[in-house]
Amino acid sequence: MISVKKDYNNLPVGLNTKGCQNQIKKTLIEKDKHNFSSYYYRDATYEVLKNQIYHRKCGYCETDTTAGAALQVDHYRPKKRIHDDRSHTGYYWLTYEWSNLILVCSACNSKKSNQFPLELTGKRVNN
Ligand SMILES: [Zn+2]
Repeated sequence: MISVKKDYNNLPVGLNTKGCQNQIKKTLIEKDKHNFSSYYYRDATYEVLKNQIYHRKCGYCETDTTAGAALQVDHYRPKKRIHDDRSHTGYYWLTYEWSNLILVCSACNSKKSNQFPLELTGKRVNN
């Protein structure tokens, strides 16, 4: 996994719009029932991830896609229900969160899907 630095004071255009702020508000109200829109993290946000943050490499396997392989925006913490824990509703509130967006190759994205394994709940810090 590539270690990257993102500027959290300078969000990409797509995430820094009134429309995106409205989507975040809707997400917090509708929770896991929210109809997610990739509109806000594709195009301008995708280009920033590809050209400035991950430099055309998959954020997980580091495959160089300069030759033309497709890259996709993945949610590090899945926005929808998690495969490993059906009681977990997913991290819907992180759908439009800059820190949660990773650029990945299609192989890694389909392999990861909505998996996000966690330690046993009794071992987690709650707060
Ligand atoms: Zn990959």
